[in-house]
Amino acid sequence: MERFIPLSIPNFEGNEKKYVDDALEQGWVSTGGTYITKLEQGLADFLKTDNVAACQSGTSALHLSMIRAGVQPGDVVLVPPLTFIAAVNPVKYQFAVPVFIDCDDSLCMDPEKLRKFCEEECEYNGIMLSYKNHPVKAVVVVHVFGNMADMEGIMPIAEQYHLKVIEDATEALGTYYTKGKYAGKYAGTIGHYGAFSFNGNKIITTGGGGAVTAKDTRDVDYIRYLSTQAKDDPHYYIHHEIGYNYRMTNLQAALGVAQMEELPEFIRRKRKNYELYQKYFNGFSLVQLMTFREGTESNRWFYSLKIDKKKIKASMREIITILQGRGIQTRAVWGLINEQKPYQNEMVYEMEKAPYYSQRILNIPSSTQITESEITYVAETIKKLLKDLANE
Ligand SMILES: *Cc1c(COP(=O)(O)O)cnc(C)c1O
Repeated sequence: MERFIPLSIPNFEGNEKKYVDDALEQGWVSTGGTYITKLEQGLADFLKTDNVAACQSGTSALHLSMIRAGVQPGDVVLVPPLTFIAAVNPVKYQFAVPVFIDCDDSLCMDPEKLRKFCEEECEYNGIMLSYKNHPVKAVVVVHVFGNMADMEGIMPIAEQYHLKVIEDATEALGTYYTKGKYAGKYAGTIGHYGAFSFNGNKIITTGGGGAVTAKDTRDVDYIRYLSTQAKDDPHYYIHHEIGYNYRMTNLQAALGVAQMEELPEFIRRKRKNYELYQKYFNGFSLVQLMTFREGTESNRWFYSLKIDKKKIKASMREIITILQGRGIQTRAVWGLINEQKPYQNEMVYEMEKAPYYSQRILNIPSSTQITESEITYVAETIKKLLKDLANE
């Protein structure tokens, strides 16, 4: 019995082929065409926001947000240490200075540490926050693995100090608040800017692609303008700004329109599969299935186990390799960004939870196609392995 259960693979059960063929037949393969506007409209409707600009990637969506947020060389941007590095790289594209703020137990930015950093480490003159004479302009908040960051905690701090909030909702399309001040609000629509990704392993994919929304619809228009080479007169090549070639193509968007039709079903399956895993791991003391924030409904994009390192001496690498041999693809969480070569000299603030979780989180298979019997196999195999390892 050869089986292989991948971590996370795309799902094309809907109209993907039909729409891509259609785009090809129309001859609209590049950055113009009706699928792009259709995808933008579909995303705006889904997210209950006014305006969405489709981009070439989540990274370009984040970069354009940062440009529009006014982040300039030498400015400070507050960023998370425990996430995919693409959330932080745009800070460097702008020759700005990242300062790493720790996460809380949700793996997302800790509002208390954010507040303490602003209060105790920075100067505030009533208009501008500054850190070691660098203006602090923005904060990048990542909704890690589809789990909503504590926006109720973060937004008042950002408002108090006039920081632009760039939500990295690349993993969180479909996550929303069900209770409280932001009830009904989707991840990516609470801060000033929200970036989404449609890379191959995200909840919907366009191969590569992304999107931006913003609180102010004019910001989205401006981002769309920047993404298409800042054409002020497209016929006579007049440009008043430095633009970028960051626009999504119609071929990608054709995929995206089909994927958006399936998104509610994908989320439904992710939720159901999470509940199955929950059933298997509940009461099993060697791991803890990470939960999602109270008062929110997560898209449950990725499932994470927190491994009890006191009882299990094997390294994450050993666990992953053994599981791979048993046909189960798992993955360790990211290495800390502040420990990566380009960031080793950057400022970190009270780092404690991020290193802790960075050594303990294991992501387990979460594709929308996974079957019930595969989930049973994954859960039972992991439980047996960890019991064996704990006894050694
Ligand atoms: C995927 C991802 C990105 C980048 O998106 P791309 O579309 O791959 O450029 C950025 N931040 C986080 C947290 C991501 O998971």
